[in-house]
Amino acid sequence: MSSCVFCRTGQLTNKLERMTLRQWSNKGYVRYEVMVVVHVCDSCGMRTLDETAQKIMDEAFNREYRKLPWVEAPANQSATPVSSRAVRSTAELLDLAPP
Ligand SMILES: [Zn+2]
Repeated sequence: MSSCVFCRTGQLTNKLERMTLRQWSNKGYVRYEVMVVVHVCDSCGMRTLDETAQKIMDEAFNREYRKLPWVEAPANQSATPVSSRAVRSTAELLDLAPP
């Protein structure tokens, strides 16, 4: 059991959580659900995700993203294609801050 990097007094407990996430992509919003282990501090309540959880979220996003049909943007709107790298950065922004 490790102690909290934020308050330094609490202990981290592992909790399996179902999370529903929504993320913007060049196909519109991608909605996906994941079951990940979240480390929750019993003192300050800070929640952190480990690399495994991040990987699960990435995979879930990609799975749902591939299912979506390609939708042409309306002609009067300038569509900015989002590269797969940009999508990944958005995913990273959604993640909780690293310890
Ligand atoms: Zn804490």
